[in-house]
Amino acid sequence: MGDIKDVRPEIVEFEAYTPGLSIDEIKDKYGLGSVIKLASNENPLGTSPVVQQVLGEKAGMAFRYAQAGTPKLHAAIAEHLGVSASRIVAGNGSDEIIDLLVRVKARPGVDNIIAFDPCFSMYKLQARLCGVEMRQAPLNADFSFDWDGLLALADEHTAICFVTTPDNPSGYTPPVGELEALARALPPQCLLVIDEAYMEFAEPQEKYSLLSRLEEFENVAILRTFSKLYGLAGMRLGYGVLPEWLAEYCLRVKLPFSVNILAEEAGIAALKDKDFVAATKKTTAKGRAYLTRELTALGCKVWPSMANFFIFDLPDNAGMDAKGLFEKLLEKGIILRPLASYGLPGSLRVSIGAVHENEALIRALHEVLS
Ligand SMILES: *Cc1c(COP(=O)(O)O)cnc(C)c1O
Repeated sequence: MGDIKDVRPEIVEFEAYTPGLSIDEIKDKYGLGSVIKLASNENPLGTSPVVQQVLGEKAGMAFRYAQAGTPKLHAAIAEHLGVSASRIVAGNGSDEIIDLLVRVKARPGVDNIIAFDPCFSMYKLQARLCGVEMRQAPLNADFSFDWDGLLALADEHTAICFVTTPDNPSGYTPPVGELEALARALPPQCLLVIDEAYMEFAEPQEKYSLLSRLEEFENVAILRTFSKLYGLAGMRLGYGVLPEWLAEYCLRVKLPFSVNILAEEAGIAALKDKDFVAATKKTTAKGRAYLTRELTALGCKVWPSMANFFIFDLPDNAGMDAKGLFEKLLEKGIILRPLASYGLPGSLRVSIGAVHENEALIRALHEVLS
């Protein structure tokens, strides 16, 4: 006999995504007036003023449905990247594209997906939800990529290989030649999905991204997002640059209005605001250099990163572990990201903030660690 509460077993066992703590949660818990959040790799400069103005002007359009498939946005992204618009699929964050790719490409109970361990948790969550086996190869101890270990997991049922570059949570960024070799070595049915959520922070991009050479690879998809460099995490907007055949399938099954009318306008405006993008890159590069210098002087081990965040390990004589430090900083109103859920209990990830935020973090660390 069935029960009204019967659902798919994948749902019963599902463990939800662990987000960074929100500012309001911390304010309430510790009775703080202001909080510095360096936990979710958001843009330290906030929302572009150009985007804010457009959002104000377009607010009155909120009663309309967006044009299904957001062709205006696809055209703007395609022009920005110098690729054909028929390759672009925009979604409700690149999270939606990850979900779409898993559902379109991988057969439940038959196929598998491969990635490194640790990896961005959305790959695992969507695979599990879809009843698709997830196989993971450990990263090298220095967070670099063990390609042989990854390839050894692939077989004739591997539907997708996810690679994140710059990687999250480490910021490690392999040279593009290694991605090219991977694309050529994977089994013929396997799609290589390169998640480039932070690639715009890496310089020079040709050295690290396959984007400008996608035409050569029928089996490669690239994911990008407006959440990080463009400062639109809350608008929920990301996209895939996919092989055309795959873009067509994804657009066919995608929820038609998952990119809302304001997100579409915000995305188009964000691509035009070159000053904001340049200022963000400059703030990130300077902040990274400052934090690396100061944390190293405090005895921390800072892992090199091309992204707008990095990992650091505590000095051996700190007298506390990463979780202890995370909690001490919370009491002072600074939120970092503990990495226990990534299997890295000894490390913290810090998003590079605005100048005053980075300075406040270093001041707090001097107090806590001395
Ligand atoms: C932030 C991030 C994304 C982007 O997520 P959105 O859904 O676009 O906000 C994708 N991949 C990785 C690895 C990320 O860190």
